[in-house]
Amino acid sequence: MKRFALCLIPFLLISMQNPASAEKNNEKQLKAAIIIDDFGGGTGGVKDFLEGDIPITAAVMPFTEHSKKHAEWAHKNGIEVIVHLPMEPKKGKRSWLGPKPITVDLPPKEVKKRVKEALISVPHAVGINNHMGSLAVENEDIVRAIVEVAKEKKLFIIDSGTSPKSKFPKVAEEMNVPILKRDVFLDDISSSSHVRKQMNRLAKITEFTGKGIAIGHVGVTGKVCSIGIFQSMDEFEKRNIKIVPVSQLFSTKLTKQYFIP
Ligand SMILES: [Zn+2]
Repeated sequence: MKRFALCLIPFLLISMQNPASAEKNNEKQLKAAIIIDDFGGGTGGVKDFLEGDIPITAAVMPFTEHSKKHAEWAHKNGIEVIVHLPMEPKKGKRSWLGPKPITVDLPPKEVKKRVKEALISVPHAVGINNHMGSLAVENEDIVRAIVEVAKEKKLFIIDSGTSPKSKFPKVAEEMNVPILKRDVFLDDISSSSHVRKQMNRLAKITEFTGKGIAIGHVGVTGKVCSIGIFQSMDEFEKRNIKIVPVSQLFSTKLTKQYFIP
């Protein structure tokens, strides 16, 4: 009888531990997201990212010739899409913002209108991040108007981190809109070795905090950015870091309903 009971122990342990340990492993999985900005614009690296097998997140500029095409292309290949909202910087050319940017001279009503139009211009978007915007992200009225649309349309926000004084975290938290911030820029220097170095930083941050967010670009640096990222994948696998769409980094799982625009 005693021996019989002992024989049962392994089975009991397996049946008790399996679901729990699976859940535990899931929780422990290190996850990082790579957002690639400026889709809709420049062509460098577009095909490499949209046809590649890394689940990047495609941040698509609205109102450009290829906004819709790139968003549909990404979605068709299972790549998560967010709107890359052009916002006024402290320095830089107006032409870098493209059509209908969010500038600080706009009344909140017009800001909301432009964000809603941007969402129509970029189909399948489940979130928003900012293109440039060092001036506009510091303006609480402007930011509040954007976050109000995000809340209404059930979108999350990724603060691209173009100003340390950004109001996005404060306003989004106040309004209970999911928000995360970019940790690393990958291609601020245009060389694949620099991109690999920055990917290593992303890995370190992810190991330290459990998750990390990097931003790279298509366009002028697109080709070297894609090469540097692809070359870093073996290292990420070795370190057990999974690249996921950025929506999967939120600690509260975003429900599907949250994504319906
Ligand atoms: Zn951008």
